[in-house]
Amino acid sequence: MNTRVPDPIALTQQLVRVDTVNPPGHEDGCIAPLADLLSAAGYACRVHDFAPRRSSLVARIGGTSRHDRRLPLAFTGHVDVVPLGNAAWRHEPFGAAIVDGRLYGRGSSDMKSGVAALACAAIAQAERLRDGPGLSLIFTAGEETGCEGAFAMARDAGAAALLGRAGALVVAEPTANAPLIGHKGAFWLRALATGTTAHGSMPEQGDNAVYKMARAALALERFEFDTPAHALMGAPTLNVGTARGGLNINSVPDAAELGIDIRSVAGQDHARVLQCLCAALGPQIQLGTLLDVASVYTPPDDPWMQRVFALCAARQGSMPLPRTVSYFTDAAALRLPLGMPPVLILGPGEPQLAHQTDEFCHVHHIVEAVALYEDLISDWCAQPQAQPQAA
Ligand SMILES: [Zn+2]
Repeated sequence: MNTRVPDPIALTQQLVRVDTVNPPGHEDGCIAPLADLLSAAGYACRVHDFAPRRSSLVARIGGTSRHDRRLPLAFTGHVDVVPLGNAAWRHEPFGAAIVDGRLYGRGSSDMKSGVAALACAAIAQAERLRDGPGLSLIFTAGEETGCEGAFAMARDAGAAALLGRAGALVVAEPTANAPLIGHKGAFWLRALATGTTAHGSMPEQGDNAVYKMARAALALERFEFDTPAHALMGAPTLNVGTARGGLNINSVPDAAELGIDIRSVAGQDHARVLQCLCAALGPQIQLGTLLDVASVYTPPDDPWMQRVFALCAARQGSMPLPRTVSYFTDAAALRLPLGMPPVLILGPGEPQLAHQTDEFCHVHHIVEAVALYEDLISDWCAQPQAQPQAA
């Protein structure tokens, strides 16, 4: 198949110009042109909608030879973006203007530049992938609101056939092209206290839920995890982000609730965290899960990660240090159905510009990311074949 490889900068601009602010998302506006490009390059494309116009895409090539038992490489990125915020933008957020080597717009860093770079590398290398171990591209909807698109695919009865397995997973979230080896998990809970309402002038006849909630908040401030700090991720954290209770000043409130944001580290089990919190808060507080995204971590001595670091060093001039990030990614949802492969987070966007006013991406980072992704594909295809198993 003879396919023209799109220009990654022009493709980033094309994607930024599509408004995929989530909510409402409407990611189909980005997924459709990506599916067209990848189909033309020989990829088998399947679109997966978790709601109307909330499309994710799985595009796969190669990995079908009976004589080649190697698993494909997988690339992933999300096409939804966060809202614009209240501050005025100096550069039109859906204009994708390039000024002084910076491509401006919502999603330019987080992470339409990454998606464009993955797609361009995948198309450039389509031919060798088709006859080799193969590649799976997974472009998702609804990542910014808790990996909705990725979780919908992972929970689908047809997930195994849709996603297949992968030998390694690359997430193109913004890292300024630094290779990162993990991220914290996010575990969001609602703590509910209930009581009995009464007239505010006769509080002795009621049972005040706000007092129970307040005691719970103070217990949470003192709460200590029984998990030691992780060498790279540091300690797990807990924050009470919201507190609500009572409807009017002259009534005893019969319900009150807290919103709890826990960021867990590698090796920490969320079910165990929930158990410990239940014990600390006692029977007057009911805990419910709002979001459960696991941490992701690949040890730096993983053989593939060592090759990734060597490839980055060859292109960037110095050996990167092993690092992790605090934000979560779709890898948390995709890793299990893909067979728990090692995960690399590497993308051209600027991490500190994600979700900011006047978000931009350095154009030269987009070009470098395509080269790095092509290096990863070449390296993957060059690895020796696994021993064919007896039929
Ligand atoms: Zn992102």
